[in-house]
Amino acid sequence: MKNVPLLINGEFSQSQAEQYIEVTNPADNSLIAKAPCATETELDMAVASAKAAFESWREVPVPERARVMMRYQQLLKEHHNELAEILSSETGKTFADAKGDVWRGIEVVEQAINVSSMMMGETAENVARGIDTYSYIQPLGVCLGITPFNFPAMIPLWMFPMAIACGNTFVLKPSEQDPLTPTRLAELFLQAGAPKGVLNVVHGGKDQVNHLLNHDDIKAVSFVGSVPVGQHIYKTATDNMKRAQCFAGAKNHSVIMPDANKSQVLSNLVGASVGAAGQRCMAISVAVFVGDSQDWIPELAEMLKEVKPGLWNDDNAGYGPLISPQAKQRVLSLIEQGKLEGAECLLDGSEFTLAGYEAGNWVGPTMFNNVTEDMVIYQQEIFGPVLCCMSVETLEEAIALVNRNPFGNGTSIFTASGAAARKYQHEIEVGQVGINVPIPVPLPFFSFTGWKNSFYGDLHAYGKQAVRFYTETKTITSRWFEDDIPSGPNMTITLK
Ligand code: NAD
Repeated sequence: MKNVPLLINGEFSQSQAEQYIEVTNPADNSLIAKAPCATETELDMAVASAKAAFESWREVPVPERARVMMRYQQLLKEHHNELAEILSSETGKTFADAKGDVWRGIEVVEQAINVSSMMMGETAENVARGIDTYSYIQPLGVCLGITPFNFPAMIPLWMFPMAIACGNTFVLKPSEQDPLTPTRLAELFLQAGAPKGVLNVVHGGKDQVNHLLNHDDIKAVSFVGSVPVGQHIYKTATDNMKRAQCFAGAKNHSVIMPDANKSQVLSNLVGASVGAAGQRCMAISVAVFVGDSQDWIPELAEMLKEVKPGLWNDDNAGYGPLISPQAKQRVLSLIEQGKLEGAECLLDGSEFTLAGYEAGNWVGPTMFNNVTEDMVIYQQEIFGPVLCCMSVETLEEAIALVNRNPFGNGTSIFTASGAAARKYQHEIEVGQVGINVPIPVPLPFFSFTGWKNSFYGDLHAYGKQAVRFYTETKTITSRWFEDDIPSGPNMTITLK
Protein backbone atom coordinates (compact mmCIF):
# COMPACT_ATOMS: atom_id res chain seq x y z
CA MET A 1 0.00 0.00 0.00
CA LYS A 2 1.39 3.38 -0.95
CA ASN A 3 0.45 7.03 -1.09
CA VAL A 4 0.16 8.16 -4.71
CA PRO A 5 2.73 10.92 -5.37
CA LEU A 6 2.11 14.27 -7.05
CA LEU A 7 4.18 15.25 -10.08
CA ILE A 8 5.13 18.91 -9.89
CA ASN A 9 7.96 20.55 -11.81
CA GLY A 10 9.46 17.26 -12.91
CA GLU A 11 9.63 15.77 -9.39
CA PHE A 12 7.43 13.10 -7.86
CA SER A 13 6.78 13.96 -4.22
CA GLN A 14 4.45 13.13 -1.38
CA SER A 15 1.60 15.54 -0.79
CA GLN A 16 1.09 17.47 2.44
CA ALA A 17 -2.62 16.67 2.14
CA GLU A 18 -4.76 16.16 5.20
CA GLN A 19 -7.29 14.03 3.36
CA TYR A 20 -6.71 10.90 1.30
CA ILE A 21 -9.03 8.86 -0.90
CA GLU A 22 -8.72 5.09 -0.79
CA VAL A 23 -7.81 3.31 -4.02
CA THR A 24 -9.10 -0.25 -3.90
CA ASN A 25 -8.98 -3.47 -5.90
CA PRO A 26 -12.59 -3.74 -7.16
CA ALA A 27 -12.38 -7.56 -7.10
CA ASP A 28 -12.36 -7.65 -3.28
CA ASN A 29 -12.24 -4.00 -2.19
CA SER A 30 -8.85 -4.45 -0.53
CA LEU A 31 -6.86 -1.25 -0.15
CA ILE A 32 -4.03 -0.85 -2.66
CA ALA A 33 -3.11 2.84 -2.38
CA LYS A 34 -4.24 6.21 -1.11
CA ALA A 35 -4.65 9.25 -3.34
CA PRO A 36 -4.04 12.61 -1.71
CA CYS A 37 -6.47 15.51 -1.96
CA ALA A 38 -3.75 17.96 -3.00
CA THR A 39 -3.57 21.21 -1.04
CA GLU A 40 -4.30 24.55 -2.71
CA THR A 41 -0.61 25.42 -2.42
CA GLU A 42 0.32 22.22 -4.27
CA LEU A 43 -2.27 22.87 -6.99
CA ASP A 44 -0.95 26.41 -7.42
CA MET A 45 2.61 25.07 -7.58
CA ALA A 46 1.59 22.64 -10.33
CA VAL A 47 0.05 25.45 -12.39
CA ALA A 48 3.04 27.75 -11.72
CA SER A 49 5.43 25.02 -12.85
CA ALA A 50 3.42 24.48 -16.04
CA LYS A 51 3.31 28.23 -16.66
CA ALA A 52 7.07 28.59 -16.24
CA ALA A 53 7.75 25.53 -18.45
CA PHE A 54 5.51 26.96 -21.19
CA GLU A 55 7.93 29.83 -21.80
CA SER A 56 10.65 27.46 -22.99
CA TRP A 57 8.52 24.55 -24.29
CA ARG A 58 6.66 26.80 -26.74
CA GLU A 59 10.06 27.67 -28.30
CA VAL A 60 11.06 24.02 -28.79
CA PRO A 61 10.82 23.30 -32.54
CA VAL A 62 7.81 21.20 -33.54
CA PRO A 63 9.91 18.25 -34.84
CA GLU A 64 11.73 18.09 -31.49
CA ARG A 65 8.42 18.01 -29.65
CA ALA A 66 7.33 15.23 -31.99
CA ARG A 67 10.51 13.30 -31.16
CA VAL A 68 9.56 13.26 -27.46
CA MET A 69 6.26 11.69 -28.53
CA MET A 70 8.16 9.16 -30.67
CA ARG A 71 10.21 8.04 -27.68
CA TYR A 72 7.08 8.04 -25.54
CA GLN A 73 5.11 5.73 -27.82
CA GLN A 74 8.09 3.35 -27.91
CA LEU A 75 8.24 3.29 -24.10
CA LEU A 76 4.48 2.77 -23.83
CA LYS A 77 4.76 -0.21 -26.17
CA GLU A 78 7.69 -1.64 -24.19
CA HIS A 79 5.68 -1.26 -20.97
CA HIS A 80 2.35 -2.29 -22.46
CA ASN A 81 1.92 -5.41 -20.29
CA GLU A 82 3.14 -3.71 -17.14
CA LEU A 83 0.74 -0.78 -17.67
CA ALA A 84 -2.13 -3.18 -18.31
CA GLU A 85 -1.37 -5.05 -15.06
CA ILE A 86 -1.42 -1.83 -13.05
CA LEU A 87 -4.63 -0.86 -14.83
CA SER A 88 -6.26 -4.22 -14.07
CA SER A 89 -5.25 -4.01 -10.41
CA GLU A 90 -7.16 -0.77 -9.83
CA THR A 91 -10.08 -1.17 -12.28
CA GLY A 92 -10.66 -4.94 -12.24
CA LYS A 93 -10.61 -5.00 -16.08
CA THR A 94 -9.55 -8.27 -17.66
CA PHE A 95 -5.94 -8.23 -18.86
CA ALA A 96 -6.97 -8.27 -22.54
CA ASP A 97 -9.35 -5.35 -22.02
CA ALA A 98 -6.75 -3.45 -19.97
CA LYS A 99 -4.27 -3.90 -22.83
CA GLY A 100 -6.91 -2.48 -25.18
CA ASP A 101 -7.33 0.57 -22.91
CA VAL A 102 -3.57 1.23 -23.07
CA TRP A 103 -3.41 0.50 -26.81
CA ARG A 104 -6.11 3.01 -27.74
CA GLY A 105 -4.06 5.60 -25.86
CA ILE A 106 -0.86 4.62 -27.65
CA GLU A 107 -2.67 5.24 -30.94
CA VAL A 108 -3.25 8.86 -29.89
CA VAL A 109 0.44 9.25 -29.05
CA GLU A 110 1.25 7.94 -32.53
CA GLN A 111 -1.00 10.65 -33.91
CA ALA A 112 0.75 13.26 -31.74
CA ILE A 113 4.00 12.29 -33.50
CA ASN A 114 2.42 13.70 -36.67
CA VAL A 115 1.89 17.08 -35.07
CA SER A 116 4.24 18.96 -37.42
CA SER A 117 1.97 18.76 -40.44
CA MET A 118 -1.08 19.51 -38.32
CA MET A 119 0.58 22.72 -37.05
CA MET A 120 0.81 24.13 -40.58
CA GLY A 121 -1.11 27.30 -41.28
CA GLU A 122 -2.34 28.73 -44.60
CA THR A 123 -0.84 31.20 -47.07
CA ALA A 124 -2.14 33.37 -49.89
CA GLU A 125 0.06 35.53 -52.07
CA ASN A 126 -1.02 38.93 -53.46
CA VAL A 127 -4.21 39.36 -51.45
CA ALA A 128 -3.72 42.98 -52.52
CA ARG A 129 -0.89 44.48 -54.60
CA GLY A 130 2.37 43.42 -52.93
CA ILE A 131 0.57 42.10 -49.88
CA ASP A 132 0.62 38.47 -48.67
CA THR A 133 -1.40 36.86 -45.90
CA TYR A 134 -0.37 33.81 -43.93
CA SER A 135 -1.39 32.15 -40.70
CA TYR A 136 0.50 30.38 -37.92
CA ILE A 137 -0.82 28.05 -35.29
CA GLN A 138 0.45 28.77 -31.79
CA PRO A 139 -0.10 27.05 -28.44
CA LEU A 140 -2.37 28.48 -25.74
CA GLY A 141 -0.40 28.01 -22.51
CA VAL A 142 -1.34 25.85 -19.53
CA CYS A 143 -4.09 23.29 -20.22
CA LEU A 144 -5.98 21.25 -17.64
CA GLY A 145 -7.28 17.68 -18.03
CA ILE A 146 -9.83 16.04 -15.72
CA THR A 147 -10.39 12.35 -16.43
CA PRO A 148 -12.87 9.61 -15.42
CA PHE A 149 -12.23 6.20 -13.88
CA ASN A 150 -13.29 4.01 -16.78
CA PHE A 151 -10.29 4.47 -19.10
CA PRO A 152 -7.36 5.46 -16.87
CA ALA A 153 -4.83 5.07 -19.71
CA MET A 154 -6.73 5.95 -22.88
CA ILE A 155 -8.41 9.13 -21.71
CA PRO A 156 -5.39 10.87 -20.12
CA LEU A 157 -3.63 9.93 -23.39
CA TRP A 158 -6.44 11.55 -25.39
CA MET A 159 -5.42 14.79 -23.74
CA PHE A 160 -1.87 15.56 -22.67
CA PRO A 161 0.10 14.16 -25.65
CA MET A 162 -1.84 16.24 -28.19
CA ALA A 163 -1.84 19.37 -25.99
CA ILE A 164 1.89 19.09 -25.27
CA ALA A 165 2.83 18.20 -28.85
CA CYS A 166 1.11 21.46 -29.86
CA GLY A 167 3.49 23.36 -27.53
CA ASN A 168 1.30 23.68 -24.43
CA THR A 169 2.06 22.52 -20.92
CA PHE A 170 -0.37 20.44 -18.91
CA VAL A 171 -1.87 19.78 -15.48
CA LEU A 172 -3.64 16.42 -15.24
CA LYS A 173 -6.14 15.60 -12.48
CA PRO A 174 -6.93 11.91 -13.03
CA SER A 175 -9.81 10.03 -11.46
CA GLU A 176 -9.23 9.52 -7.74
CA GLN A 177 -10.54 5.96 -8.18
CA ASP A 178 -7.64 4.72 -10.33
CA PRO A 179 -4.68 7.14 -10.19
CA LEU A 180 -1.91 4.53 -10.39
CA THR A 181 -2.08 4.01 -14.17
CA PRO A 182 -1.86 7.77 -14.96
CA THR A 183 1.07 8.03 -12.51
CA ARG A 184 2.97 5.35 -14.43
CA LEU A 185 2.06 7.07 -17.72
CA ALA A 186 3.60 10.27 -16.34
CA GLU A 187 6.79 8.50 -15.20
CA LEU A 188 7.28 7.11 -18.69
CA PHE A 189 6.64 10.55 -20.18
CA LEU A 190 9.51 11.99 -18.12
CA GLN A 191 11.66 9.04 -19.20
CA ALA A 192 10.84 9.91 -22.82
CA GLY A 193 12.55 13.26 -22.29
CA ALA A 194 9.72 15.64 -21.41
CA PRO A 195 11.30 18.67 -19.72
CA LYS A 196 10.29 19.37 -16.15
CA GLY A 197 7.01 21.20 -15.66
CA VAL A 198 5.63 20.29 -19.10
CA LEU A 199 3.37 17.65 -17.52
CA ASN A 200 2.18 17.93 -13.92
CA VAL A 201 -0.13 15.46 -12.19
CA VAL A 202 -2.20 16.34 -9.14
CA HIS A 203 -4.77 14.26 -7.27
CA GLY A 204 -8.05 14.74 -5.48
CA GLY A 205 -11.73 15.22 -6.13
CA LYS A 206 -14.18 18.03 -6.71
CA ASP A 207 -12.49 20.61 -4.43
CA GLN A 208 -9.21 20.23 -6.29
CA VAL A 209 -10.99 20.46 -9.68
CA ASN A 210 -12.93 23.54 -8.61
CA HIS A 211 -9.78 25.28 -7.39
CA LEU A 212 -8.06 24.64 -10.72
CA LEU A 213 -11.11 25.79 -12.72
CA ASN A 214 -10.83 29.16 -11.02
CA HIS A 215 -7.12 29.54 -11.69
CA ASP A 216 -6.39 32.47 -14.02
CA ASP A 217 -3.32 30.82 -15.56
CA ILE A 218 -5.26 27.87 -16.98
CA LYS A 219 -6.30 28.60 -20.55
CA ALA A 220 -8.18 25.46 -21.63
CA VAL A 221 -10.01 22.65 -19.88
CA SER A 222 -10.60 19.12 -21.19
CA PHE A 223 -13.00 16.98 -19.18
CA VAL A 224 -14.39 13.48 -19.56
CA GLY A 225 -16.94 12.13 -17.07
CA SER A 226 -20.60 12.18 -16.09
CA VAL A 227 -23.27 14.60 -17.32
CA PRO A 228 -23.82 16.67 -14.15
CA VAL A 229 -20.09 17.14 -13.59
CA GLY A 230 -19.53 17.87 -17.29
CA GLN A 231 -22.20 20.56 -17.25
CA HIS A 232 -20.75 22.09 -14.10
CA ILE A 233 -17.22 22.08 -15.49
CA TYR A 234 -18.27 23.50 -18.86
CA LYS A 235 -20.22 26.34 -17.21
CA THR A 236 -17.51 27.14 -14.67
CA ALA A 237 -14.67 27.01 -17.17
CA THR A 238 -16.45 29.17 -19.75
CA ASP A 239 -17.72 31.63 -17.08
CA ASN A 240 -14.03 31.97 -16.20
CA MET A 241 -13.32 32.75 -19.88
CA LYS A 242 -11.51 29.46 -20.54
CA ARG A 243 -11.82 27.28 -23.58
CA ALA A 244 -13.60 24.03 -22.65
CA GLN A 245 -14.40 20.62 -24.12
CA CYS A 246 -16.47 18.34 -21.87
CA PHE A 247 -17.27 14.76 -22.89
CA ALA A 248 -20.12 13.37 -20.84
CA GLY A 249 -22.49 10.41 -20.39
CA ALA A 250 -24.26 8.31 -22.97
CA LYS A 251 -27.08 5.96 -23.85
CA ASN A 252 -26.02 4.19 -27.02
CA HIS A 253 -28.54 2.37 -29.21
CA SER A 254 -27.89 -0.43 -31.64
CA VAL A 255 -30.56 -0.88 -34.32
CA ILE A 256 -30.97 -4.43 -35.62
CA MET A 257 -32.65 -4.84 -39.00
CA PRO A 258 -34.26 -8.19 -39.85
CA ASP A 259 -31.90 -8.66 -42.84
CA ALA A 260 -28.77 -8.47 -40.64
CA ASN A 261 -26.44 -11.42 -40.15
CA LYS A 262 -27.92 -12.93 -36.98
CA SER A 263 -24.85 -14.62 -35.54
CA GLN A 264 -22.74 -11.50 -36.12
CA VAL A 265 -25.38 -9.34 -34.47
CA LEU A 266 -25.72 -11.52 -31.38
CA SER A 267 -22.01 -11.97 -30.71
CA ASN A 268 -21.35 -8.26 -31.32
CA LEU A 269 -24.15 -7.23 -28.96
CA VAL A 270 -22.81 -9.47 -26.18
CA GLY A 271 -19.35 -7.86 -26.19
CA ALA A 272 -20.60 -4.32 -26.77
CA SER A 273 -23.17 -4.41 -23.95
CA VAL A 274 -21.49 -6.17 -21.02
CA GLY A 275 -17.78 -5.92 -22.01
CA ALA A 276 -15.84 -3.94 -19.37
CA ALA A 277 -18.90 -4.56 -17.13
CA GLY A 278 -20.81 -2.04 -19.27
CA GLN A 279 -18.57 0.76 -17.97
CA ARG A 280 -17.77 2.20 -21.39
CA CYS A 281 -19.14 5.50 -22.61
CA MET A 282 -19.62 3.79 -26.00
CA ALA A 283 -21.17 0.57 -24.61
CA ILE A 284 -24.36 -0.51 -26.33
CA SER A 285 -26.97 -0.20 -23.59
CA VAL A 286 -30.11 -0.29 -25.76
CA ALA A 287 -30.79 -2.82 -28.55
CA VAL A 288 -33.63 -1.78 -30.85
CA PHE A 289 -35.00 -4.76 -32.78
CA VAL A 290 -36.81 -3.88 -36.01
CA GLY A 291 -39.63 -6.17 -37.23
CA ASP A 292 -38.90 -9.91 -37.12
CA SER A 293 -35.42 -9.46 -35.66
CA GLN A 294 -37.13 -9.38 -32.25
CA ASP A 295 -37.39 -13.19 -32.55
CA TRP A 296 -33.64 -13.26 -31.76
CA ILE A 297 -34.09 -11.76 -28.28
CA PRO A 298 -34.38 -15.07 -26.34
CA GLU A 299 -31.21 -16.38 -28.03
CA LEU A 300 -29.37 -13.20 -27.11
CA ALA A 301 -30.37 -13.71 -23.46
CA GLU A 302 -29.00 -17.27 -23.62
CA MET A 303 -25.69 -16.01 -25.00
CA LEU A 304 -25.38 -13.27 -22.39
CA LYS A 305 -26.01 -15.84 -19.68
CA GLU A 306 -22.85 -17.65 -20.78
CA VAL A 307 -20.65 -14.61 -20.08
CA LYS A 308 -18.88 -15.12 -16.76
CA PRO A 309 -17.41 -12.22 -14.81
CA GLY A 310 -14.04 -13.03 -13.29
CA LEU A 311 -10.61 -11.94 -12.15
CA TRP A 312 -8.32 -9.89 -14.36
CA ASN A 313 -5.96 -12.80 -15.01
CA ASP A 314 -8.67 -15.39 -15.71
CA ASP A 315 -8.58 -15.96 -19.48
CA ASN A 316 -12.16 -17.20 -19.40
CA ALA A 317 -13.54 -14.09 -17.70
CA GLY A 318 -15.81 -12.01 -19.91
CA TYR A 319 -15.40 -8.94 -17.76
CA GLY A 320 -14.44 -7.85 -14.24
CA PRO A 321 -16.15 -6.19 -11.29
CA LEU A 322 -17.63 -2.69 -11.21
CA ILE A 323 -15.32 0.05 -10.00
CA SER A 324 -16.77 0.55 -6.48
CA PRO A 325 -19.43 -0.63 -4.02
CA GLN A 326 -21.31 2.62 -4.73
CA ALA A 327 -21.30 1.90 -8.49
CA LYS A 328 -22.56 -1.63 -7.80
CA GLN A 329 -25.29 -0.37 -5.48
CA ARG A 330 -26.43 2.13 -8.10
CA VAL A 331 -26.62 -0.55 -10.81
CA LEU A 332 -28.50 -2.95 -8.50
CA SER A 333 -31.06 -0.28 -7.61
CA LEU A 334 -31.60 0.49 -11.31
CA ILE A 335 -32.14 -3.24 -12.01
CA GLU A 336 -34.72 -3.26 -9.20
CA GLN A 337 -36.31 -0.13 -10.64
CA GLY A 338 -36.57 -1.81 -14.06
CA LYS A 339 -38.45 -4.72 -12.56
CA LEU A 340 -40.81 -2.40 -10.65
CA GLU A 341 -41.43 -0.38 -13.81
CA GLY A 342 -42.64 -3.55 -15.57
CA ALA A 343 -39.74 -4.29 -17.94
CA GLU A 344 -39.38 -8.03 -18.51
CA CYS A 345 -36.14 -9.18 -16.83
CA LEU A 346 -34.91 -12.03 -19.03
CA LEU A 347 -31.59 -12.31 -17.22
CA ASP A 348 -30.85 -10.99 -13.74
CA GLY A 349 -27.23 -10.65 -12.61
CA SER A 350 -27.94 -8.88 -9.32
CA GLU A 351 -27.21 -11.93 -7.17
CA PHE A 352 -23.93 -12.82 -8.88
CA THR A 353 -20.81 -13.10 -6.75
CA LEU A 354 -17.45 -14.64 -7.51
CA ALA A 355 -16.55 -17.49 -5.16
CA GLY A 356 -13.77 -16.40 -2.82
CA TYR A 357 -14.29 -12.72 -3.80
CA GLU A 358 -17.68 -12.08 -2.26
CA ALA A 359 -16.60 -8.64 -1.05
CA GLY A 360 -16.01 -7.46 -4.66
CA ASN A 361 -18.30 -5.29 -6.78
CA TRP A 362 -19.67 -8.06 -8.98
CA VAL A 363 -22.80 -7.85 -11.11
CA GLY A 364 -23.68 -10.59 -13.59
CA PRO A 365 -24.95 -9.92 -17.11
CA THR A 366 -28.49 -8.58 -17.03
CA MET A 367 -31.03 -8.13 -19.81
CA PHE A 368 -34.45 -6.50 -19.95
CA ASN A 369 -37.01 -6.80 -22.72
CA ASN A 370 -40.04 -4.64 -23.51
CA VAL A 371 -38.32 -1.53 -22.21
CA THR A 372 -40.18 1.71 -22.94
CA GLU A 373 -39.06 5.31 -23.18
CA ASP A 374 -40.79 6.37 -19.96
CA MET A 375 -38.76 3.93 -17.84
CA VAL A 376 -35.88 5.15 -15.67
CA ILE A 377 -33.72 2.24 -16.92
CA TYR A 378 -34.11 3.70 -20.42
CA GLN A 379 -33.63 7.33 -19.44
CA GLN A 380 -30.56 6.97 -17.22
CA GLU A 381 -27.10 5.83 -18.12
CA ILE A 382 -26.81 2.60 -16.08
CA PHE A 383 -23.04 2.14 -16.53
CA GLY A 384 -23.23 -1.55 -15.67
CA PRO A 385 -23.59 -4.89 -17.51
CA VAL A 386 -27.26 -4.29 -18.32
CA LEU A 387 -28.80 -4.42 -21.80
CA CYS A 388 -32.26 -2.95 -22.46
CA CYS A 389 -34.16 -4.36 -25.46
CA MET A 390 -36.93 -2.55 -27.32
CA SER A 391 -38.89 -3.47 -30.45
CA VAL A 392 -40.24 -1.29 -33.28
CA GLU A 393 -41.80 -2.11 -36.64
CA THR A 394 -39.82 0.07 -39.05
CA LEU A 395 -36.43 1.71 -39.56
CA GLU A 396 -38.16 5.12 -39.48
CA GLU A 397 -39.51 4.36 -36.00
CA ALA A 398 -36.06 3.26 -34.86
CA ILE A 399 -34.47 6.48 -36.17
CA ALA A 400 -37.14 8.62 -34.46
CA LEU A 401 -36.60 6.75 -31.17
CA VAL A 402 -32.83 7.22 -31.21
CA ASN A 403 -33.18 10.87 -32.20
CA ARG A 404 -35.59 11.58 -29.31
CA ASN A 405 -32.95 10.39 -26.84
CA PRO A 406 -31.05 13.32 -25.30
CA PHE A 407 -27.66 11.57 -25.60
CA GLY A 408 -25.67 11.39 -28.83
CA ASN A 409 -22.36 9.64 -28.20
CA GLY A 410 -22.49 6.51 -30.35
CA THR A 411 -24.91 4.28 -32.21
CA SER A 412 -24.80 1.38 -34.63
CA ILE A 413 -27.00 -0.31 -37.20
CA PHE A 414 -26.78 -3.96 -38.22
CA THR A 415 -28.13 -4.59 -41.71
CA ALA A 416 -27.34 -6.14 -45.08
CA SER A 417 -28.97 -3.20 -46.86
CA GLY A 418 -26.83 -0.33 -48.13
CA ALA A 419 -29.93 1.80 -48.48
CA ALA A 420 -30.96 1.26 -44.83
CA ALA A 421 -27.40 1.94 -43.65
CA ARG A 422 -27.18 5.11 -45.79
CA LYS A 423 -30.51 6.38 -44.49
CA TYR A 424 -29.45 5.66 -40.89
CA GLN A 425 -26.05 7.35 -41.13
CA HIS A 426 -27.61 10.39 -42.77
CA GLU A 427 -30.63 10.92 -40.53
CA ILE A 428 -29.37 9.85 -37.12
CA GLU A 429 -28.58 12.66 -34.65
CA VAL A 430 -25.63 10.95 -32.99
CA GLY A 431 -21.98 11.90 -33.41
CA GLN A 432 -20.43 8.45 -34.02
CA VAL A 433 -22.16 5.84 -36.14
CA GLY A 434 -21.20 2.21 -36.73
CA ILE A 435 -22.48 0.18 -39.68
CA ASN A 436 -22.19 -3.46 -38.67
CA VAL A 437 -19.60 -2.17 -36.17
CA PRO A 438 -21.03 -2.07 -32.63
CA ILE A 439 -18.66 0.38 -30.90
CA PRO A 440 -17.51 2.93 -33.49
CA VAL A 441 -14.73 4.71 -31.59
CA PRO A 442 -12.80 6.56 -34.32
CA LEU A 443 -9.04 6.13 -34.68
CA PRO A 444 -7.08 9.23 -33.72
CA PHE A 445 -6.54 10.67 -37.21
CA PHE A 446 -10.29 11.38 -36.92
CA SER A 447 -11.76 12.95 -33.78
CA PHE A 448 -14.01 11.57 -31.04
CA THR A 449 -17.21 13.38 -31.90
CA GLY A 450 -20.05 12.87 -29.40
CA TRP A 451 -23.15 15.08 -29.77
CA LYS A 452 -26.04 16.42 -27.69
CA ASN A 453 -25.80 15.69 -23.93
CA SER A 454 -22.75 13.54 -24.53
CA PHE A 455 -20.60 16.57 -25.29
CA TYR A 456 -20.43 20.22 -24.25
CA GLY A 457 -18.13 22.36 -26.37
CA ASP A 458 -17.21 22.85 -30.02
CA LEU A 459 -13.94 21.10 -30.79
CA HIS A 460 -13.56 17.42 -29.96
CA ALA A 461 -10.80 15.11 -28.69
CA TYR A 462 -7.73 14.07 -30.70
CA GLY A 463 -7.19 14.37 -34.48
CA LYS A 464 -7.26 17.77 -36.20
CA GLN A 465 -9.98 19.04 -33.88
CA ALA A 466 -7.68 18.59 -30.86
CA VAL A 467 -4.99 20.64 -32.59
CA ARG A 468 -7.50 23.44 -33.11
CA PHE A 469 -8.74 23.13 -29.52
CA TYR A 470 -5.24 23.41 -28.06
CA THR A 471 -4.03 26.26 -30.31
CA GLU A 472 -4.72 29.79 -31.48
CA THR A 473 -4.44 30.89 -35.10
CA LYS A 474 -2.45 34.02 -35.80
CA THR A 475 -3.04 35.60 -39.20
CA ILE A 476 -0.37 37.92 -40.60
CA THR A 477 -0.86 40.40 -43.42
CA SER A 478 2.50 41.53 -44.74
CA ARG A 479 3.90 44.09 -47.21
CA TRP A 480 7.53 44.85 -48.00
CA PHE A 481 8.01 48.23 -49.71
CA GLU A 482 10.16 48.04 -52.81
CA ASP A 483 10.71 51.79 -53.02
CA ASP A 484 10.33 54.81 -50.81
CA ILE A 485 7.61 56.63 -52.74
CA PRO A 486 4.92 57.72 -50.26
CA SER A 487 1.48 56.65 -51.46
CA GLY A 488 -0.43 58.99 -49.15
CA PRO A 489 -2.69 57.93 -46.29
CA ASN A 490 -5.27 55.19 -46.98
CA MET A 491 -8.48 56.51 -45.39
CA THR A 492 -10.43 53.29 -46.04
CA ILE A 493 -10.34 49.76 -44.63
CA THR A 494 -9.59 48.32 -48.07
CA LEU A 495 -6.13 46.86 -48.62
CA LYS A 496 -4.34 48.80 -51.33
P1 NAD B 1 -17.32 11.59 -12.82
O1 NAD B 1 -18.04 12.70 -13.49
O2 NAD B 1 -17.82 11.14 -11.49
O3 NAD B 1 -15.78 12.00 -12.55
C1 NAD B 1 -14.97 12.47 -13.60
C2 NAD B 1 -13.91 13.42 -13.04
O4 NAD B 1 -14.55 14.57 -12.48
C3 NAD B 1 -13.06 12.82 -11.92
O5 NAD B 1 -11.72 13.20 -12.13
C4 NAD B 1 -13.63 13.42 -10.66
O6 NAD B 1 -12.68 13.59 -9.64
C5 NAD B 1 -14.16 14.77 -11.12
N1 NAD B 1 -15.34 15.22 -10.37
C6 NAD B 1 -16.31 14.42 -9.83
N2 NAD B 1 -17.27 15.17 -9.26
C7 NAD B 1 -16.91 16.46 -9.43
C8 NAD B 1 -17.50 17.71 -9.07
N3 NAD B 1 -18.66 17.78 -8.42
N4 NAD B 1 -16.87 18.84 -9.42
C9 NAD B 1 -15.69 18.80 -10.11
N5 NAD B 1 -15.09 17.64 -10.47
C10 NAD B 1 -15.68 16.49 -10.15
O7 NAD B 1 -17.24 10.39 -13.86
P2 NAD B 1 -16.74 8.90 -13.63
O8 NAD B 1 -17.73 8.17 -12.79
O9 NAD B 1 -15.32 8.89 -13.22
O10 NAD B 1 -16.80 8.34 -15.14
C11 NAD B 1 -17.93 7.76 -15.72
C12 NAD B 1 -18.66 8.73 -16.60
O11 NAD B 1 -17.80 9.23 -17.61
C13 NAD B 1 -19.84 8.09 -17.34
O12 NAD B 1 -20.93 8.96 -17.30
C14 NAD B 1 -19.32 7.95 -18.77
O13 NAD B 1 -20.31 7.93 -19.77
C15 NAD B 1 -18.46 9.16 -18.88
N6 NAD B 1 -17.50 9.00 -19.96
C16 NAD B 1 -17.74 9.68 -21.10
C17 NAD B 1 -16.87 9.55 -22.16
C18 NAD B 1 -17.10 10.30 -23.44
O14 NAD B 1 -16.20 10.32 -24.26
N7 NAD B 1 -18.24 10.89 -23.67
C19 NAD B 1 -15.75 8.71 -22.05
C20 NAD B 1 -15.55 8.03 -20.85
C21 NAD B 1 -16.43 8.20 -19.81
